[in-house]
Amino acid sequence: MLWPRHCVGCGDWLAGPTDWGIGCPRCTLDWPDLLGVAGPILMKERCRLEFGAVGFRLRGHALLKAQLSEIKYGGNRRLAWRWGHWLGNHVPLPAPENGRVILVPVPLHWRKRAQRGYNQAEWIARGLGSAWGLPVAARALKRTRHDVSLTHLSRASRAETVRELYAAHRVALQHDDHVIVVDDVMTTGATLSACGAAIRAAGGRWLGAAVLALA
Ligand SMILES: [Zn+2]
Repeated sequence: MLWPRHCVGCGDWLAGPTDWGIGCPRCTLDWPDLLGVAGPILMKERCRLEFGAVGFRLRGHALLKAQLSEIKYGGNRRLAWRWGHWLGNHVPLPAPENGRVILVPVPLHWRKRAQRGYNQAEWIARGLGSAWGLPVAARALKRTRHDVSLTHLSRASRAETVRELYAAHRVALQHDDHVIVVDDVMTTGATLSACGAAIRAAGGRWLGAAVLALA
């Protein structure tokens, strides 16, 4: 199932496993990956979480920006799945002492989801879940408001605005579930924190987050 595949950058055939597992050596030579210890530390600086997984730093990298854009707006579910699977193959599976771990994608408002046809975070979570052998609870969180854009807000007002944006379904979470929230990009961490707060409010445990990129 895994090999052979094509490089996500140039489309060249990948005849066997490469370091990155998703691109050819030429395309991945200068990819600013965050798979070591730096990524989780940067994530923990932005929001308090036990576990953090991140693929790469987005800033200034045209090829990776194009990948994210294709995942978000291009309707490319398979690419989202592949990147999620790649992340799971490069980051060790978190293992809490009791309870199960589930993956919960950051939801879109139903109206936006209907416009776009899919939620990119859900497909990243599916790929990640496949690599880690974990279930994806795609409906455990919902976004309660549609008409809020966070793009031009300051860090403080973003956190304030986002706090009430998400709600968790109590029935989707079992007691002792450890939830990893999955998204494509982490900016300030306000969205992930708000999702974590909603999960806690519904009785779940927020273990942390997995994102493809740090902006
Ligand atoms: Zn390539």
